Amino acid sequence: MKLEPLDIQPRLLLGPGPSPVPYPVRRALAEPVVGHMDPQFLAIVDHIQTMLRKVFGTANRLTLPVSGTGSAGMETAIVNFVEPGDTVIVVVAGVFGGRMVEAVEKVGGRVVCLEVPVGAAATLETLRQLLDDHPATRLVAVVMAETSTGVLQPLAGWGELVHSRDALLLVDTVTALGGMPVNVDDNGFDVVFSGTQKCLSAPPGLSPFTASDRALTHLDARKVPIPSWYLDLNAFRQYWGQNRVYHHTAPISMLYGLYEALRLVLLEGVESRYARHRQVAQALWAGLEAMDMELMVDTAIRLPSVTTVKVPHGVDEMRLRQYLLKHEGIEIAGGLQSLSGKIWRIGVMGHGARLSNMIELLAALGRGLRDQGRHVASGVEAAEAVYNRGNK
Ligand SMILES: *Cc1c(COP(=O)(O)O)cnc(C)c1O
Repeated sequence: MKLEPLDIQPRLLLGPGPSPVPYPVRRALAEPVVGHMDPQFLAIVDHIQTMLRKVFGTANRLTLPVSGTGSAGMETAIVNFVEPGDTVIVVVAGVFGGRMVEAVEKVGGRVVCLEVPVGAAATLETLRQLLDDHPATRLVAVVMAETSTGVLQPLAGWGELVHSRDALLLVDTVTALGGMPVNVDDNGFDVVFSGTQKCLSAPPGLSPFTASDRALTHLDARKVPIPSWYLDLNAFRQYWGQNRVYHHTAPISMLYGLYEALRLVLLEGVESRYARHRQVAQALWAGLEAMDMELMVDTAIRLPSVTTVKVPHGVDEMRLRQYLLKHEGIEIAGGLQSLSGKIWRIGVMGHGARLSNMIELLAALGRGLRDQGRHVASGVEAAEAVYNRGNK
């Protein structure tokens, strides 16, 4: 083996995560590693918590990044807030809802699935019906931004309804946080997790997490010990609270990266950032439609952060993605499970959500289709026109 130093070719990351990481965040990762009890570092820890509360839209005391990717946040939510025998309603509208079913079953929860057809969203009425049928429900788990289908689940009224049945509302905001309003407190979300590599544009490795005081009351009333040593929220509370008791070593450099990423979000302003995501996504949609491509999800519930587009009949899905990566340095993704081979997933996330990136992608898509003998109209002009309309 030759001991070559790393030499990574940059890519334009326009898939469903990781998203492009801007230079200030990458530079932050290279700052000197200090101890996790160093006063310099503890100040950063405090600032991260304050910034996370702003981006989540919450005053929750328990707001912190879990060490691990988004899935670690999911597992933290479930091992702490589900006990054996608890009835848990899980909305399954795609792959990420399906994962929560598995995680709840692993800790002995009794899952009631609220199954939603691919490309659709659940309704408040269906949830109400299910809660009527299962009055002992302790927790309702739902994905706000289903990355596998590109659907934005409307959640207005969910918090109120779930609370009226004395249950908790758990929300996966992995592909939402930093790209669209999450508003934890206004929406009555109790347990919320996210990830750093989607709309926050930091590298993968941390899972922003928050839990309401209501949720903590449920946690304190647990009858059975938390079935995880590492993901024990009571232990996290010791370090991220006032006591600073060592549990596991904080991932120092990753936290530098998150600090910088959150700082950039707040410098831009959350409202401007959400508007930018929306405007750039709309430009992409117009461009794709001008190229005669069909979008999978209705506008009313279409996610700004992930666009799902149907693979035109007769086009080799994988070959097109390989073309983009090899010849254009652009990464997009295919479909998962039942959608495999049928759709592409395009991320409009964080630092990547810019018109210039969409123009580059639309032009490259045209070349990729031509490579397969398909000649389509350009999507560039339509994308620019829609984007400029948004600027007026
Ligand atoms: C990416 C993603 C996850 C999983 O996050 P990892 O960082 O890959 O562990 C969970 N839920 C949704 C909606 C996601 O998009």
